[in-house]
Parts: sequence; C-alpha cells; structure tokens
Amino acid sequence: MRLANIQIDLDGSWALSQYLDKPIPKYPDAIFQNAFPRFLDILDEFEVKATCFVNAVDVTIPEKKAIIVESIKRGHEIANHGYDHKYFSSLNLKGKEEEIKKSTNILNDLVGKQVKGFRAPGYDIDPYTLSFLEQYGYSYDCSVFPTSLVLPIKIFQKITTGQIKTPLPTWGALLAPLKPYYPSLNNIYKKGKSNILEIPCTTTPFLRLPLHVGYASFFGESYLKLALGFVQFFNIPVSCVFHLIDLSNLFEKGKAKNFTQGLFFNIKKEKMLKYVIQILKKDYQLLTVEEFYKKINP
Ligand SMILES: [Zn+2]
Repeated sequence: MRLANIQIDLDGSWALSQYLDKPIPKYPDAIFQNAFPRFLDILDEFEVKATCFVNAVDVTIPEKKAIIVESIKRGHEIANHGYDHKYFSSLNLKGKEEEIKKSTNILNDLVGKQVKGFRAPGYDIDPYTLSFLEQYGYSYDCSVFPTSLVLPIKIFQKITTGQIKTPLPTWGALLAPLKPYYPSLNNIYKKGKSNILEIPCTTTPFLRLPLHVGYASFFGESYLKLALGFVQFFNIPVSCVFHLIDLSNLFEKGKAKNFTQGLFFNIKKEKMLKYVIQILKKDYQLLTVEEFYKKINP
C-alpha cells in the first residue's frame, strides 16, 4: 500500500502575527486553543495519527501544554518547529544552535525521549541547521517545500496585508527532489551525505503545486484531486501539511485580522480537511512521520 503522513504545524495567533505591526501575546491564543482540539477530534474520528510540529515556547504555557499533552495521550507524534518561530536565516551560527538546543531540551523533556523530527519556521532551512539537527539527535527534517506557489502567495499577502515579512523561497527549493532524500551538507536542495532524511512537503511534479489543505480550500476539490492524481502517477509518497489556521475561526474571541487564509474560514474548511483525510485514507496507509521514516528507512 502507498504511504502517506499527516503533519500539523501548531502555529497559533502569536506565531502568525509576530511579523505584523501589532504582534499578539502568546496567551490567550484563539487559534491554538480552538483549532488544535478540533484537529484532535477529527483525527480521532478518522482513526488517524499525525505528527504535530510544536513551537517549544508553547510548552511553557500550562494551558497550551495541557492540549499538547492530550495530543500525546491520543497517540500523535511530537516534532520540533523551533522555540518561538524565529526564521533561521535571521540567526547567526550561535543563534541557530541555541534555538535547536533550547527547543530540543523542552520537547525531549515533554515526551520523555528523543524527538526525531524538525520543520524550520517558514520552511527556512540551511545546511548549518541540518548539521545541528544531526548533532542534537534528529532523524528527519520536513523543511523543504519545493513549490512554485509561494511567490504568488507572498504577493497576495503583500496586497492584502501590506507586508511580506517571511523569507522568500529560494529558487534552489524549486529544484529540490520531490521524494525523501539525504541532502548535501553544502546545498540542502541537492542529494548528498547528510544523515538527516529530508522529507519534502509534497508538491506535484512539473507545476509543483502543494497538497496543503490551505490551498485546496482556496482552489477547491478538483485542484486537490488533480494534484493527488499527479502525485500517485509518479509514485511520490505523500507528506500532507496542515496548519492550525486550516481549522480556525477568526470570528472567535481574540480574532486576528489580516491573515489571508483566515479569510476563508467556514464550514468549507472543515469539510475540505475531512475530504483530504478521506481520500488519502482510501489509497494510502496514513502514518506519523516517524513511522513513515521507519518504513522507508528500515
Ligand atoms: Zn510555522
């Protein structure tokens, strides 16, 4: 059977707002506290286990920690999404190591064992960070997002929010392999000798359209069917990435304005998310990323 994994980035309101003019405090966090439990219920409904990419700072806030602990109890994997969503390209070498060290310590303490997976905030990864991941005991990285859509999305973001404060995609990512690979320690987008398995976020061959549910709720079900058809035809294992905002309702208390994807929240988003899980479940064995890693890397 084909293999797929489900990934959720636990970016709450503060993470999405930190580069806007008026950042939101880390607590209360309308997106995290409302959308994360919704995800857990839907995953239970479909009997699917996912990998949750956690911003370690959220573990230091008891109310949020409680939901993360609940996700562990329900069988989901915890992976690292940095300490407080800093972009690694903005950090020097010492800063990159500090960020990995601090977040790893918090997450390892939380789960009581070594955390295996990492995704850099903003898909902003470099070979130095990869070396630190090796050093701090990681097995896989999910930071490469080889899509052609990021640039148009940033332009859309600029038009709707007036700013782009996230790192722009490098052209290198566009040429990265679509299937899991061991990257070069000189160029993360090429195959090489790193011991960290790179598991790219799935995009289609040629047009490199992402399988993210955020885009699917925007472009509709036929987009998703077409993208998945391509991916299946070329036998690419699926790493399907979700974000909390995929299930957030900005009309809830503590709403955060100016989030482009948030404009499209409604029942449609929840329906789309269930639809994605449903069609994946039909043709794929759905795993956490760690299980997926073990299967393709016995
Ligand atoms: Zn993020």
